[in-house]
Amino acid sequence: MYMLNYDENSSINNRISYTQTSQSGKILINLDFGEIIYPSTIDWPGKVSLVVFTRGCPFNCIYCCNSKFLDKDESNYKEIAYIENIISKNSVFLDAVVFSGGEPFEQHIAICMITQFVKKLKLQVGIHTNGAYPDRIRQMIESGSVDAIFLDVKAPFINERYNNIACPSQLYPKDKLIENIRASLDICCKARVENKLKFLEVRSTIFRDINSKLDDIKNMVEPIGYCDAYVLQQGRTEIAMDNKMDDEQIVTRNELLEIAKFVRRLIPFEKIKVVKVRTRELGDEIIP
Ligand code: SF4
Repeated sequence: MYMLNYDENSSINNRISYTQTSQSGKILINLDFGEIIYPSTIDWPGKVSLVVFTRGCPFNCIYCCNSKFLDKDESNYKEIAYIENIISKNSVFLDAVVFSGGEPFEQHIAICMITQFVKKLKLQVGIHTNGAYPDRIRQMIESGSVDAIFLDVKAPFINERYNNIACPSQLYPKDKLIENIRASLDICCKARVENKLKFLEVRSTIFRDINSKLDDIKNMVEPIGYCDAYVLQQGRTEIAMDNKMDDEQIVTRNELLEIAKFVRRLIPFEKIKVVKVRTRELGDEIIP
């Protein structure tokens, strides 16, 4: 029998962990688990990672390519010891463990416990996040249990535009969406400047009619205080959740390169160290 625990102090979607009581009366923490992939060299470029996909996300982005992990599913709960065991068995081959999803910070108690285990193995920890939960990101950084954050900026910082792309669930306060994403961005940039994070990647997935105009791009990148890399990802429509996303929405590699050059001219190296494009054709390319 599982028990869903809530964060009484949180005004937003406040599921924090699933617990189960063992026969001996011990409380076992569970993770609503998607899958594990290893080794991966793309989820934290330059590192060999084991990637833990969690289930559940407060958003339903129109272009989501991980929709199989959006729904919460009790049949996929795994004790965190199960995850830790797989990490431990493979630790000699790894540089890092990366959490992705879904939205890992939906289950931040379980994630925090696993990250502490990972740190004991002297591996680094990376987390992919949509920025929905700034307080949880801050707590995780302050606890010293995360080394790298990979943060989405999905749309211009205009409430209606962001809501139309991220499509938050009914439990998530739509009027707080921009405020929360901006707070997450500011927390991560500040932490990187203060060296509390070792690496920060901010990324935007670009589609033609959704967020490819230069004014939109400007709005998305100007608030970045400091990051190691800003990545313009080529949106993929063939795996998008919204079947109205047809192929005309795909920006070409050349178009993406032009957008990236615009960002490079606009933002100094002191704020964004590296600008990249990420395409199906050639993977990651750095803009000089
Ligand atoms: S934030 Fe959006 S793209 Fe990422 S898992 Fe959630 S719905 Fe999918």
